[in-house]
Amino acid sequence: MALSALVLPHTDWLGWLGHRGDGQLATARERVAAAVALPPGDPEILQLFNQASIALRNAGSVAGLLSSVHPDAAVIERAEALEIEVQRFSTDLYLDPAVYAAISSVAADGLDADARRLQAKVAQSFRRSGVDRDESVRQRVRELEATLTELGQTFSRNIRDGRSETRVPATALDGLPDDFVQSHPADPDGLVTITTEYPDVMPFLAFATDAAARRAVAHTFFNIAWPGNDAVLADLLRVRHELATLLGYATWADYDAEVKMIGQGAAIAEFIDTVASDAQASGERELGVLRARAERDGESVIDVSNWRYYHELIKREQYGVDATQVRRYFDFGKVHDGLLDITARLFGLRFTPVDAQQARTWHPDVTSYDVAYAEGGDPIGRIHLDLHPRERKYNHAAQFELVAGVREVQLPEGVLVCNFPRGLMDHRDVVTLFHEFGHLIHHIVGGAQRWVRFSGVATEWDFVEAPSQLLEEWAWDASVLRRFATDDQGTPIPRDLVAAMKAADEFGKSFLARTQMFYAALAYTFHVERPADRTERMLQLYRRYSLVAPLPDTHFFAGFGHLEGYTSGYYTYMWSLVIAKDLFSAFDRNDLLAPEVAQRYRDRVLRPGGSRDAADLVESFLARPYNTDAFAAWLNS
Ligand SMILES: [Zn+2]
Repeated sequence: MALSALVLPHTDWLGWLGHRGDGQLATARERVAAAVALPPGDPEILQLFNQASIALRNAGSVAGLLSSVHPDAAVIERAEALEIEVQRFSTDLYLDPAVYAAISSVAADGLDADARRLQAKVAQSFRRSGVDRDESVRQRVRELEATLTELGQTFSRNIRDGRSETRVPATALDGLPDDFVQSHPADPDGLVTITTEYPDVMPFLAFATDAAARRAVAHTFFNIAWPGNDAVLADLLRVRHELATLLGYATWADYDAEVKMIGQGAAIAEFIDTVASDAQASGERELGVLRARAERDGESVIDVSNWRYYHELIKREQYGVDATQVRRYFDFGKVHDGLLDITARLFGLRFTPVDAQQARTWHPDVTSYDVAYAEGGDPIGRIHLDLHPRERKYNHAAQFELVAGVREVQLPEGVLVCNFPRGLMDHRDVVTLFHEFGHLIHHIVGGAQRWVRFSGVATEWDFVEAPSQLLEEWAWDASVLRRFATDDQGTPIPRDLVAAMKAADEFGKSFLARTQMFYAALAYTFHVERPADRTERMLQLYRRYSLVAPLPDTHFFAGFGHLEGYTSGYYTYMWSLVIAKDLFSAFDRNDLLAPEVAQRYRDRVLRPGGSRDAADLVESFLARPYNTDAFAAWLNS
């Protein structure tokens, strides 16, 4: 029987959201109670737990989406309240020994492989919450979790509130774009103020020709939240370590890595050293190019205050890429249609527009499509593209879930939430659109699972970026781009322009990889060692991994916000990229639209969602285990 898409309201979103949220939470509560009431060992317990999880997920999905995209403040407020209710429900559920006992009572040998995997994963989540420990430990876990939430908020708040300023002479604006100069008028003393906000500091470090002013701005920037966050970080590292050891792990990195592809903490250190070594020779070569250019200006050291400046200069002087020339070829409407055309061909899909009256989304900007396999059959999901900025809308780019797909229960629905201009786009935006669409396709194609836990992008966290990073490659291919990237006369983007764009983009990749490995090493090492002198340890790691020197008396780690979100796992983005490059090695670079490889990738990597380990999915596509060869070759190409 064909499933239908979720019916959204015509007008009364507030009433609809209240009804959907309360209804799904009530269902979740009722299914959990029913599961616990069954005789121990009854396999139906897993079905009921799945139904409870579906309901909880449904409530969480609409709450997360609508709090980020709905234009009405009252709906946002209700959605945020629902998010907190769902979070609280989930925390209580995973600390409930009765539910854990019911799930564990089902004999694994009576289950098929999929159900056995589900039972193991669910039980693991309960144990990682501390459900099987005695009451005193569970109580301590609750306290530590609460302390961690508070410390995490303090760490992030100190960074947000740590905004400071550097005053530089007005002449220091030499080299910056006109709009930047106009928005930074000199005060009566002839000085201009550069804040530590990204839109201020990044262009300044990239374009200002005044080296002393760049050093002053960088010095302020690399002391954000110093010294305040030094002690907060020490506490965070200590509490994370206590929580991990209380739950039976040697280190926080081991606890965190257990549910990722990388598996254990020590493997993070190995991975960082492998990438650092792969990037050694080519990184040194790139550094040499930067240094040679800097020496012409009388500067002998590439440090955090000048590498961006010389990086940009090399791109302009040696690659000759003019961003304003590139933009002419990327009209939003053509890019939108081109993306759908290309991904339909590539993945063997059919996108059928759903008219606005029928889709009834939260804003008239949103376009909706039913997705089906090209060979026919019922729709396998629905996508919604919400791509332009507006007030109160989420201000980055991400894929959100409206519905998690469950086979024979509900169709997956995903939403791209981005903030692109309505006219001409930067090529960077086009790459972002392809990236996010990679997540969306994964959500839909992987959304026919029996167990909601495995639906869509539910793979290991350090794998989840690989399908989206892979799809970025199509946005750099001249033959792909020429299908839709045409100027207002209809002339396709020249192949040599695309080649120059790509060459400019790739200059510095090894050098930047070394910087990324410095960040990753700092995140990992701090969690494992909990060093007493964090500044000294940071300086050692700078020397070992980064090709860029720090400025004296700066403390980068105090403002490194990802120590809160990623904790010890900052390596994950590079890990996904390594796998994306390995996946890409199976495609024919001269014919990226060849359907056979792409559809094998679709069926073997995307379609199973989280129902198998990512390493196994990749192996079944590549017909060998994944490795770092393609990544190393790319770094050194
Ligand atoms: Zn992504």
